[in-house]
Amino acid sequence: MDNIFSNNVNNVEISGIRKFFNKVTKVPGAISLTLGQPDFPVPKNIKNAMIRAINDNKTKYTANAGIPELRNEISEFLKSMDIRYSADEITVTVGGSEALLCIFAAFLNAGDKVLIPTPAYPAYESCVKIFGAEVVNYNLNKDFTINFESIIKLIDEENPKLLVMSHPSNPTGAILSLEERDKLFIILKEKDIYIISDEMYSSLCYEKYYSLAQIDELRNRVILVGGFSKMFSMTGLRVGYVCASKYITDNIMKVHQYNVSCVTSISQWGAYEGLRSSMGDVNDMKVEFEMRKEYVYKRLKKIGMDVALPKGAFYIFPSIARFSMSSEEFCNRLLNEGKVAVVPGSAFGTGGEGFVRISYSYSLEVLKEGLDRMEKWLKSLNLA
Ligand code: PLP
Repeated sequence: MDNIFSNNVNNVEISGIRKFFNKVTKVPGAISLTLGQPDFPVPKNIKNAMIRAINDNKTKYTANAGIPELRNEISEFLKSMDIRYSADEITVTVGGSEALLCIFAAFLNAGDKVLIPTPAYPAYESCVKIFGAEVVNYNLNKDFTINFESIIKLIDEENPKLLVMSHPSNPTGAILSLEERDKLFIILKEKDIYIISDEMYSSLCYEKYYSLAQIDELRNRVILVGGFSKMFSMTGLRVGYVCASKYITDNIMKVHQYNVSCVTSISQWGAYEGLRSSMGDVNDMKVEFEMRKEYVYKRLKKIGMDVALPKGAFYIFPSIARFSMSSEEFCNRLLNEGKVAVVPGSAFGTGGEGFVRISYSYSLEVLKEGLDRMEKWLKSLNLA
């Protein structure tokens, strides 16, 4: 049968993260360190708020942009990070994923160019391709900080419409420093470009938080993506948000409205309660993640891996360059021979080749077992 699907969709692949996760189930006894899914239960107050919402029959369509109560709380929450968007500049979306798709749909025409870091969360590249637009990758420095020369050169040469920034980063764990933020501002204020700032992991930043959305003069050109999947450990409840000045929000809303009408009402009430009364749980999770980060980093160093210390999110991205294998081969062998799954860096774009992503959103016990296995397997290669 002829290929009946759109050229754009034919051009998109299923996420390499999922592909690898699915492989794990086929290897008996294997441990997975692949997913970005916190292992904590949803905070109790959030659960109770959702049960209350059901019993109170809060089960109808909500406003397309989300319940005003939640949008007000998001606005307040952002203030605590020095970011100012009013409730009518906030759209509640079906996770960060829908936020991203709506933004790209609102902005992109076929052939438009989008600057995307590499390595990066794979959805950016795939969304851009779905709209027939063109991905232009910018490289990062060796420690995954921003390579300003690369950005300036590509903006000048390629004239992209959008620039994607993502901090704290999945997969590298890099955050935006004050110096980077201010230097970016100086560069971007002169350029005619809109900036998507994916801040999905803002609650998991182990140093002071900086964002381009904090800068008033850039605010009209920054589109901020956030959400509660990671923050409240509620990935399956699907609540995220996008913040942008009103004229951008109005256009994002056109897509969001026809896409989903609104986010599940019950989940919205859960997220609302979370912002009001579960920030203590968020902090407890952060403390636990930070402890795991230190553990995994030290273990990897001890094994002799070349690895940058992550400063946010719950991923670590060690180099495997010295093992003379592609990241795909390394991960396939580690899974089949060592019985532990991590994600090949190539799943995050060309800049991810030579690395693997380990998620430390698993308990210390699982992490210890996974790293013991990895150490044993690496020793069996007789390379150390
Ligand atoms: N942005 C980044 C950087 C992510 O890592 C993820 C999920 O892993 C998302 C967006 C999407 O989040 P959600 O699960 O809320 O759709």
